[in-house]
Amino acid sequence: MTVRFCAVCGAATERRIPEDDDHNRDVCTACGHVHYANPKVVVGAVCVHEEKLLLCRRAIEPRRGFWTVPAGFMELNETAEEGAAREASEEACADIEIEGLLACYSIKRIDQVQLFYAARLKQPTVIAGRETLEAELVRWADVPWADLAFPTVHWVLEEARARGLATRGTRPRLADVPLGPRR
Ligand SMILES: [Zn+2]
Repeated sequence: MTVRFCAVCGAATERRIPEDDDHNRDVCTACGHVHYANPKVVVGAVCVHEEKLLLCRRAIEPRRGFWTVPAGFMELNETAEEGAAREASEEACADIEIEGLLACYSIKRIDQVQLFYAARLKQPTVIAGRETLEAELVRWADVPWADLAFPTVHWVLEEARARGLATRGTRPRLADVPLGPRR
């Protein structure tokens, strides 16, 4: 992503490697402000009630009409866990409790880091939010594998299934990654 005009003073930028740096940056030609571009963090959750998990059919582009787990860009001033819970609330009016980290994917092509949590639905009630056409609790046998919105949704559902989420009599195995501080 190129920044053509300085975010501080509005002057034109130039693409160059600043002093003591080793990456090309957009640097202001007037005030010298360096515009750092870094990957974005996406947070989401596989939300489980007994032997079912929450899937949402997207009402927005990209991939409108395809199925996903609740996920979206992390906002400022929230933890990753809070972000995942917020997305579940926004997309499916779901009230969830985060249980642990399920998977982390770094995707260079789109400069994103995606964190997915395992979560428990506090109530088995889900309602489509503004960005969702349908919110459904589905069994593994009914997961629409061919109609998932993104590769990472496919990967995280495979991970969740392999770890025994939403499976009767199995205690899910979560990643051996401690949850970070809450603030
Ligand atoms: Zn400037």
